[in-house]
Amino acid sequence: MNVDDVVAERIAAAQRKTEADKQARAELAAARSAGLAARHAAKLDHLAQDERAVLHCPACRRQRPARRIGSGAVLGRLVVLVECCETTCGLAWVVRPDGA
Ligand SMILES: [Zn+2]
Repeated sequence: MNVDDVVAERIAAAQRKTEADKQARAELAAARSAGLAARHAAKLDHLAQDERAVLHCPACRRQRPARRIGSGAVLGRLVVLVECCETTCGLAWVVRPDGA
């Protein structure tokens, strides 16, 4: 085996590792995305049952108890209207059940 073969083998190994790393990152990103969607859906299920859930309030910029105050369709998509239960806030905002 000459030097060119050794270099070619190392380049091929590096390319295989790059492809494997890329595949692993894609799989992790897909799993993370699916997990976030499931978590969001579970939160909204909880909200539908108890009328309250802990959500990230955009105004408070932190997790706050929020209550469901309505739901409906906007541009053909199901949305849930929630209100921050923090007395000094009271922001109402729309969340999508699919987490999009
Ligand atoms: Zn708030």
